[in-house]
Amino acid sequence: MTTATADKETLGFQAEVKQLLHLMIHSLYSNREIFLRELISNASDACDKLRFEALHNAALLEGGGDFRIRVDYDKEARTITVADNGIGMNRDEVIANLGTIAKSGTREFFARLTGDQQKDAHLIGQFGVGFYSSFIVADKVTVKTRRAGEKPDQGVEWSSDGGGEFTVAMIERPEHGTEITLHLREGQDDLLSAWKLKSIIRKYSDHIVQPILMRKEEWKDGKEVKLDEWETVNQASALWAKPKNEIAEDDYKAFYKHVAHDYDDPLAWVHAKVEGKQEYTLLLYLPAHAPFDLWDRHARHGVKLYVRRVFIMDDAEQLMPLYLRFVRGVVDSADLPLNVSREILQESKDIETIRKGCTAKVLGLLADMAENDKEKYAKFWNEFGRVLKEGVGEDFANQEKIAKLLRFASTHADTADETVSLADYVGRMKEGQEKIYYVTAESFNAAKNSPHLEIFRKKGIEVLLLSDRVDEWVVSHLTEFEGKPLVSVAKGGLDLGKLEDEAEKKEHEKEAGEFKELTEKIAKSLGERVKEVRVTHRLTDSPACLVADEHDVSGNLARILKAAGQKAPVSKPILEINPKHPAVLRLKNEEAKFDDWAAVLFDQALLAEGGQLDDPATFVKRINDLMLSMSLGGK
Ligand code: ADP
Ligand code: MG
Repeated sequence: MTTATADKETLGFQAEVKQLLHLMIHSLYSNREIFLRELISNASDACDKLRFEALHNAALLEGGGDFRIRVDYDKEARTITVADNGIGMNRDEVIANLGTIAKSGTREFFARLTGDQQKDAHLIGQFGVGFYSSFIVADKVTVKTRRAGEKPDQGVEWSSDGGGEFTVAMIERPEHGTEITLHLREGQDDLLSAWKLKSIIRKYSDHIVQPILMRKEEWKDGKEVKLDEWETVNQASALWAKPKNEIAEDDYKAFYKHVAHDYDDPLAWVHAKVEGKQEYTLLLYLPAHAPFDLWDRHARHGVKLYVRRVFIMDDAEQLMPLYLRFVRGVVDSADLPLNVSREILQESKDIETIRKGCTAKVLGLLADMAENDKEKYAKFWNEFGRVLKEGVGEDFANQEKIAKLLRFASTHADTADETVSLADYVGRMKEGQEKIYYVTAESFNAAKNSPHLEIFRKKGIEVLLLSDRVDEWVVSHLTEFEGKPLVSVAKGGLDLGKLEDEAEKKEHEKEAGEFKELTEKIAKSLGERVKEVRVTHRLTDSPACLVADEHDVSGNLARILKAAGQKAPVSKPILEINPKHPAVLRLKNEEAKFDDWAAVLFDQALLAEGGQLDDPATFVKRINDLMLSMSLGGK
């Protein structure tokens, strides 16, 4: 029994919590059932935490150790109670955990709300704000708790009606763990039924590892009477430990929703028992949608680690490489010691073995999907492709496998969504083509319309269009595929090899000679802005373009680094001019305005590849002069 003492304190909720509570109460009632899932999930976490802490300090169990979650209801009082014998909370923890939202990402949570109840309800689990969902069905919530290991007089009672405030008071509480009582709102009485509660538990919480207990009932004199006996209403077993043939597709899906805090079905999964140097079981899932914090490399990622079915930790980042951070699921080791800590994991060779195994399984799952279910793979690629690309530079051992999984936009496809694999590309290379050509740019359109592609278009040679930031990283690490080098069309001299005939090569030499004087004159005029000026046969329509020297940083990468606030190595571009273009030909006879025209040639080449002008105003002035001189009839 508990009695309140005199130290009752009234505190205000953090502003975000108030906002959240308002949302829970006013717009999520059509998904009210989730409150039970969230409370049971918290109770289960609390049991896991105590079991883990007790590995180092058995006294915390206070003689117990059989974890369980009890769900009960009282028709007269109109309450539902969820009680666990987990870790419990002390006063400070109660105030921090049930008065604020500690997690980052709260702002994203609010930003992502759509007003669609179904969709918004999905977000609650993902964003770790589950406790507050109690107020969907309750107009008053009371929490009685005591942290395991504290004295019985260190119990805490928290209470709130979901308005702006809550109270906390110290209480006597002989048992550790937490008991949450919901005083139901008007109109929620249908929840006060064993049948109803059981069906909600089975629907959302069947896979919870601890037994969820409810009181047995009996009919006596035409009335339901609750007995003092408790029965387990969920399966209460570790799904991954069962043989595959005993697990239904729906079980896998339900378990995913639990581990990933996702409401949608997973895209795919792999479940395997691995034997060898290390023995472990893995059940790993690919989500169907990217989480909100996918781009935050420090966000939670990785999978849950168990040792012989005992929960050890969430987000064990050592179990998955960073480029597979979207994978969710569990790994259960048969060999690791129960008292492993994050620090030990960091240095453990055994964990490295497990990570390699898990990585191989996920890459295998992806390869299989890419081969046998192209549509599904396209979905995956759309959500997570950009993250997977990081692997090219991160995981050299698997680079070849990852390269096969890459997809790119291409000049041979019509839209950015239509993608080709490197194998597709190589499979349709032109007779005599020895290289894989690509262009990098800031956007799909910039890549697609890049002047560097003109000669490739004319000759019908495919070029990959790379416009993700990470692509520069990909091509700096992936230098060849199946023995074919990857070559930027905007870097170095253009050597089309056998794709050009002798006559064309002769002509280029001739032009280089004829334009020697002009290129030297332009180079002198532009001075420090260019490394070199030369004649090109890259261009068919444009008068000029910029290229980077073979080993210099590309213009696109230099801009990305600059935008990210990083120092880019300063390398001057090479200006290439099109000897057939009338504007270039005209420059041969220009005297008075030569410097202006040379500058315009350079500036427009820079603009065409997505660069920024140092001095836009002067560029505009020169263009206006040019237009004026044209309207006056030239010269
Ligand atoms: P999340 O579970 O994602 O952290 P919740 O809003 O569901 O978010 O819970 C907030 C916090 O309150 C939990 O992280 C936990 O620290 C604490 N908490 C909630 N329920 C319990 C419980 N039954 N036992 C111990 N701590 C709890
Ligand atoms: Mg929770």
